[in-house]
Amino acid sequence: MPWVLNRTVEPPANPLVMSQPSFRAGDLDNVGLGSGRHCSIFEMMAHHAFNNKNVYWKEETTELCFNWLKELKINPELIIFKENWWEGGGNAGPCFEVLIKGNEVATLVFMEYEGPFNGNYKKMDMKVVDTGYGLERHVWGSTGTPTIYDSIYPNLVEWMAKKAGLKQNEKLFSEFCKTCGILNIEEVNVDLTRDKIIKEISRKLSLEEKEIKELILPFHNIYQILDHTKAIMFILSDGVVPSNVQEGYLARLLIRRVIRSLEDLGLNIPVSEIIEKQVKDYKKTFPEFEENKEDIIKMVDIEKEKYSQTLNKGKELAKKLITGKVVDDKTLTMLYDSHGLLPRDIKRFLPDVKMNLSDIETKIAAQKSSVKIQEKKDIDVRNIPETKKSYYENEKVFEFKAKVLKVDGDNVILDHTYFYPRGGGAEPDFGKINGFKVYDVESVGNVIIHKVKGHKIKEGSDANCVVDKERREQIKKHHTATHIINGAAKKVLGNHVWQAGSKKDVDKAHLDITHYENLSEKEIEEIEKIANDVVKKSLKVNKFLLTKNDAERKYGFTIYQGGVVPSKQIRIIEIPTFDVEACGGIHCDNTSEVGDVAIIKTERPQDGIARLIYTSGQAAEKYLRGREMILKECSKILNASERDLVKAIKDLIEEWKEKRKRLEILLRESAKKKSEKLEFEESKGLKFLIKEVENADMNQLQEISRRLSKEDTVIFLMGILDKIYLFAAAGEKAVKKGINVGKIISSASKELGGNGGGRAELAQGFGLEKKKAKDVLFKIKKDLIK
Ligand code: ZN
Repeated sequence: MPWVLNRTVEPPANPLVMSQPSFRAGDLDNVGLGSGRHCSIFEMMAHHAFNNKNVYWKEETTELCFNWLKELKINPELIIFKENWWEGGGNAGPCFEVLIKGNEVATLVFMEYEGPFNGNYKKMDMKVVDTGYGLERHVWGSTGTPTIYDSIYPNLVEWMAKKAGLKQNEKLFSEFCKTCGILNIEEVNVDLTRDKIIKEISRKLSLEEKEIKELILPFHNIYQILDHTKAIMFILSDGVVPSNVQEGYLARLLIRRVIRSLEDLGLNIPVSEIIEKQVKDYKKTFPEFEENKEDIIKMVDIEKEKYSQTLNKGKELAKKLITGKVVDDKTLTMLYDSHGLLPRDIKRFLPDVKMNLSDIETKIAAQKSSVKIQEKKDIDVRNIPETKKSYYENEKVFEFKAKVLKVDGDNVILDHTYFYPRGGGAEPDFGKINGFKVYDVESVGNVIIHKVKGHKIKEGSDANCVVDKERREQIKKHHTATHIINGAAKKVLGNHVWQAGSKKDVDKAHLDITHYENLSEKEIEEIEKIANDVVKKSLKVNKFLLTKNDAERKYGFTIYQGGVVPSKQIRIIEIPTFDVEACGGIHCDNTSEVGDVAIIKTERPQDGIARLIYTSGQAAEKYLRGREMILKECSKILNASERDLVKAIKDLIEEWKEKRKRLEILLRESAKKKSEKLEFEESKGLKFLIKEVENADMNQLQEISRRLSKEDTVIFLMGILDKIYLFAAAGEKAVKKGINVGKIISSASKELGGNGGGRAELAQGFGLEKKKAKDVLFKIKKDLIK
């Protein structure tokens, strides 16, 4: 919508009719009994008119809406158009809320003003009709069930209620749900108001409040579970992977809320089983759910596992962090952000602690839906004409002349350039301008800025420019390899894979993809194989421009792997039969130019993201040559042929383990012998052993101390080898008398230029200054045995 309004893109049709599945996380706690009518996932049907020419305005819109409802056989006298004012996304205008017996089925917005709204409203030059008709609200209105969920999920509500041993008490339900409408978290405290309503019904129907709660409130959980599992199915199928950041965070929150609600109901049904039922119900309209089913279910199962791990760790942590009787929202948000604990989990661990339960989860969700703001660049490019991007006209020009438009410090701006700027994850071209080194190229808006080191380039002059060809070629290979790896990853791992970031440098490249677990060796191997097959097939890489609407219609939204592009024209990079993406980068003309692709390693830079690091072409050859050298070196050292290398290493390790075992036995025996010679000194009812043990390391000191420790002993041992080892232990009786070996070790090791410490009864440390060792030992002895 904003791009249509600022005329960056044409509307896909005008007038436009469509239906959008919509996800809304700002008021999760209204879902269920809550308001009985809010959904986190719903379908918004719409007809829009963009009045850049006269399409239609208020009269026609209202008439269209009225006729539509009449067509649905709704008594015209029940249709109410309620005037209101709408503001959102920087625009505003009057609107009609369309209600039938209090059920808001549509909103008709007449956008005609634009912000900023500081008291005065500026008329837009293109007025827009923006309508929304709630599909689910229509269905609800046509069935007249107590809540909206009973009409969206009739079979599933019944199935779950039966599993939980519940039955809707019709009289009670219709009484309760009539008043449910006022339970909106934006307007009332839901928990308190619900209590009041129940009190009222209790009087009216002569039923115990407790009984009413038991008959009604479990359905709150059932409704939330059904709403949330449907939302999970939609967003996971759309490529969201649960994590602790951005939209992945919302997916995780929903899954955890479902698990928690199932537990509250005492139901032992896996979340994935409910989602399977949802897929079955929706696959006719959304066949992609069936296609992505396994993927979705796997992600949900993994999340369940992660959640139970979180809970195991979280219990102790919550008890440690929350000591008082009240906990504030900030702490609750932190516990979810950093440790994945829902306020409801904490309520379970600490039932007596007061917290604002009904809307803190909603607040957490709303915060995460906010948008990031782009960083500002340090050079002012207003009043500078757009730089002509000559590299798009001919990718094979590496020497050229250009006019210098502006110079500011290292920044040089030309009238046109063949230098490709940093963008879409690709590192920029380097090279020379008038012989001075270009070390960075970036774009600010439509202006390209060359960063040139220590230059003497003059504004208004003509400059001789040279692009570093070798660098460009290698980055180009890595860039094209990135498209190939992305396509291969999708084939191997599933449709949830989206590009989450990338970097194409000279020596290597990496691609971040959304994925829920570490990649296995088998998966990595498969991705590499598919990538190399695509290279071997010598597929032509097609590069062409399409209008935004045509591109989306033809290829779908998966072309936006690097983010949505806000322009009328989109540059499409197509590897036929394999991968299509919108991309502004520089690519090879044929996949064969990419050369062999080698995946060097994988990492997990953050939750929900897997990183593949790879190289191709000459960089790959260099990498593989390097590995070969290492292999050769190893076989030389081990005196084994490359084929026998693995066996040689295994043998070596076995032998080493065996020797270590024998060494441990010998050391223990020698410790035993050494300890037999040591004698205690008695003082003040305690026995002291403060000695240097010859040729003893930490293990030996420990072993000696273990053998000799009793409740009335104080042992301080020192061993001097490569460094000074200190170990001390005090018996229970000695500790009671005020001996603290932790403190003694800490100060002794510090004095010896090392480090150490421990508890009053056990401590260890090390030192480096061997010359001081004897003095330190003597001093400790003197202090302890007076
Ligand atoms: Zn690209």
